[in-house]
Amino acid sequence: MPVDEKLEPILAEVLSRNAGEEEFHQAVREVLESLGRVVAKHPDYADDALIERICEPERQIIFRVPWVDDQGRVQINRGFRVQFNSALGPYKGGIRFHPSVNLGIIKFLGFEQIFKNALTGMPIGGGKGGSDFNPRGRSDGEIMRFCQSFMTELHRHLGEYTDVPAGDIGVGGREIGYMFGQYKRLTNRYEAGVLTGKGLVYGGSQARREATGYGAVYFVESMLARRGEGLEGRKAVVSGSGNVAIYTIEKLQQLGGVVIACSDSNGYVVDEAGIDLELLKDVKEVRRGRIADYAALRGASARYIEGGCVWDVPCEVAMPSATQNELTGKNARTLVANGVVVVGEGANMPSTPDAVRIFQSANVLFAPGKAANAGGVATSALEMQQNASRDSWSFEQTEARLAAIMRGIHDRCAETAEEYGAPGDYVLGANIAGFVRVAEAMRAFGVV
Ligand code: NDP
Repeated sequence: MPVDEKLEPILAEVLSRNAGEEEFHQAVREVLESLGRVVAKHPDYADDALIERICEPERQIIFRVPWVDDQGRVQINRGFRVQFNSALGPYKGGIRFHPSVNLGIIKFLGFEQIFKNALTGMPIGGGKGGSDFNPRGRSDGEIMRFCQSFMTELHRHLGEYTDVPAGDIGVGGREIGYMFGQYKRLTNRYEAGVLTGKGLVYGGSQARREATGYGAVYFVESMLARRGEGLEGRKAVVSGSGNVAIYTIEKLQQLGGVVIACSDSNGYVVDEAGIDLELLKDVKEVRRGRIADYAALRGASARYIEGGCVWDVPCEVAMPSATQNELTGKNARTLVANGVVVVGEGANMPSTPDAVRIFQSANVLFAPGKAANAGGVATSALEMQQNASRDSWSFEQTEARLAAIMRGIHDRCAETAEEYGAPGDYVLGANIAGFVRVAEAMRAFGVV
């Protein structure tokens, strides 16, 4: 879909002001493509530079992270926190540790986060952070020293009413623990609501670890239900084998799906008997191993394909849950030719714009990440709620809230797409529903 001519100057400005930040350009273009219909219906949204303001982060922080490795050498990484929009609440969004991290990637993630958080209906603004630190192969001690140094700088920008990070790629329970411990030392405050994804013994929420994956599957289930269909007996492929992938697989299996493949950045495994989830958790969460180790331990039913592309495996349900732009136009054509029925994005922006067009024109149900993976941040907001009331809820209670939130997001996207003349277009529905909520709040504040 082209960008409406009224919005073209906004896109041109974003491209020239943020030169070289390709992923950020891609994320902004996708949202602006949807907003043409909003300004056609409500021209006042183009007033007061509301859209321009949403595209400009409120604050961008870049800092040095020095730390000492196990050999006693000083290492230097770069840290980022982009506090994108606080119209609806404190900045909220994860921290990513991956060598590919740069300002453009953090800005794309922060921008997506604004709309995602708005879609949840909860009081959270949008932000994102991270570092180009590569945790792969690092010892526990090195991870701890890195996290402590990262938080030593970042802590002054955080607070339960200001900015509340969580995990993302390369940042799980262990890293959140080290960062929370350092925040507590530096501030001398037990401010539980300053980070989410915490361990259960020190203020974490039940079901937060599972939430992103479970939520994405609930979203897919809702899309299928609208067509009178379900997940029972469907063959599914999930990319990645990290936090989101593992709990996507778990919920798919609980709802009767048959997950036959998953991956990491080195290759993928096909397991015709269905992925053995206990083994996968042991390999990834306990041993911190590779997907090749799963294949080696699993025996005859599993095949490991080094360097292969997981999207070559025929399936009806595809859930990209690794990283941005991992599913290309070519992969989308293969999936369509192989009979894919529904694509639910667990990762952020994993499908390229080409791939999205191919799915939509083939009438494949397509759920964009900013809607489908919102269960993680929604449960983080539930964690903040529990911290604020010094309470903790049961797994069942928390999961029930998550399920209701995901159905709500699904319905909001579907209804908004219909209202704006594009039934079944969840990309458009998510972008418009998220935008309208943020824009209304910003308008109420005047020019800020
Ligand atoms: P993890 O670090 O737990 O797992 C990431 C997985 O993706 C690993 O299997 C990793 O493989 C693979 N991966 C990462 N980068 C690449 C790459 N460049 N090419 C191929 N594979 C890659 O991260 P999460 O599961 O937390 O995050 C996955 C996605 O979900 C991200 O897009 C994240 O932004 C998104 N997300 C996460 C949320 C959360 O709550 N954790 C919430 C909402 C979205 P390898 O080990 O080989 O690097």
